[in-house]
Amino acid sequence: MKRVVIVGVGFAGLRAARALAGKGMEVLLFDRQNYHLFQPLLYQVATASLEQESIAYPIRALVRRWEGVSFRLAEVCGADFCKRRLFIAGDVIDYDYLVLAAGSVTNFFGMESIERHAYDLKKLDHAVELRNQVLGSFERAARERDPVRRRALLTFVIVGGGPTGVEFAGALAELARFVLTKDYPELGVTEPRILLVEATDRLLAALPVELQRYALEKLKRMGVEVLLSTRVSGAEPERVHLQDGSQIPAHTLFWSAGVCVAPLADVLAVPRAPGGRVPVEPDLTLAEHPEVFVVGDLAYLAQDGAALPMVASVAMQQGDYAGRAILARYLGKPLPPFRYRDKGAMATIGRSAAVATVYGRNFSGYLAWIVWLGLHLYYLIGFRNRLLVLLNWAYYYILYERQVRLITREGEGGSCQ
Ligand SMILES: Cc1cc2nc3c(=O)[nH]c(=O)nc-3n(C[C@H](O)[C@H](O)[C@H](O)COP(=O)(O)OP(=O)(O)OC[C@H]3O[C@@H](n4cnc5c(N)ncnc54)[C@H](O)[C@@H]3O)c2cc1C
Repeated sequence: MKRVVIVGVGFAGLRAARALAGKGMEVLLFDRQNYHLFQPLLYQVATASLEQESIAYPIRALVRRWEGVSFRLAEVCGADFCKRRLFIAGDVIDYDYLVLAAGSVTNFFGMESIERHAYDLKKLDHAVELRNQVLGSFERAARERDPVRRRALLTFVIVGGGPTGVEFAGALAELARFVLTKDYPELGVTEPRILLVEATDRLLAALPVELQRYALEKLKRMGVEVLLSTRVSGAEPERVHLQDGSQIPAHTLFWSAGVCVAPLADVLAVPRAPGGRVPVEPDLTLAEHPEVFVVGDLAYLAQDGAALPMVASVAMQQGDYAGRAILARYLGKPLPPFRYRDKGAMATIGRSAAVATVYGRNFSGYLAWIVWLGLHLYYLIGFRNRLLVLLNWAYYYILYERQVRLITREGEGGSCQ
């Protein structure tokens, strides 16, 4: 029986596995996490809207009914493409076909001080750490007598005006305004300060100009200070440095200014494209190794003169294609090259406010928000997760309350020693 090994069970790896399940092949999945993570909702865990469990799903539970598919929790350390071997911690696995879908990590662009002091969102732990930091800052501010220090504790700098930065800024503004001002009556309503810093002259660069303008105006009306054409160049624990030499006293810096490929790419003997991505042929395979597929954020493929973006919809379509391509080869059937079908893009800004472009039509406000909610529920894995997320959203929408206001980091209340 032919063996397909899939590295990474994110959006791309999961789709590839699903396409191959029950087709008479042995499919081995490897991931260093035992759960599939719905990254687009990480910011809602970080802003106390959702429990971490509601946006993750155990991989073994996912695949146990998929015939021929099995999962192993393991970090993949390298591969020998010529011998068709994969190296995992303490073991070597042979394969007939390999699908590399290891995704991406946050790109700090070599700025060491930012990497050390900033928070980012790529893993579940990151979201919980960021939530602890946000809620912990309010606690510390509530007992801080020095107004300058209190202001710095309540200043949150978000870097990156893409969907994650915009969504996090909006959600944080609502958390501060609707929920935390009730929890902390000792703090003034206007004291929390949220700054969204973007290096270019616009937010949400992938969306049409009218939607960019809507997002900018909406965020401003929510009290977010948007600094366009501004670069963050460094950080210390209690201040953020801008490239023009000025500084912002702030205890929290959230970095969402870019991603680069997962470190696995560094140990594979493969060519590299911008962002460290791995260039692939039109059928998503490596040039010298037609049995090795590279998909999702890890892969670099240009279509109509532009590189495909590192987004979930590209990853899902590529994963699905890789699964079908392997099957077609196994059955000796032809398959046309991969072609990405761009259905659109969207971002939510706050209650009843989102922007979306779907099949070339632009939406903003309530309708876009409903579309955003529906699509995120649809793509979330597991009925229980969907129900939990829906209930949390409805609870917040009706009562202006966020349930998950838990600080799980020790020491936020000070120490007796
Ligand atoms: C905060 C955030 C918000 C986002 N919002 C959106 C959005 O709104 N819309 C959108 O389209 N996209 C969004 N994205 C991007 C989207 O999540 C990614 O494009 C998508 O997850 C890429 O899928 P993938 O399968 O390539 O990688 P991932 O989904 O990242 O999966 C990679 C998997 O590989 C595993 N892995 C990595 N290295 C190894 C190794 N060496 N050994 C074993 N396993 C390994 C990881 O544990 C992970 O499970 C967002 C991303 C983030 C971080």
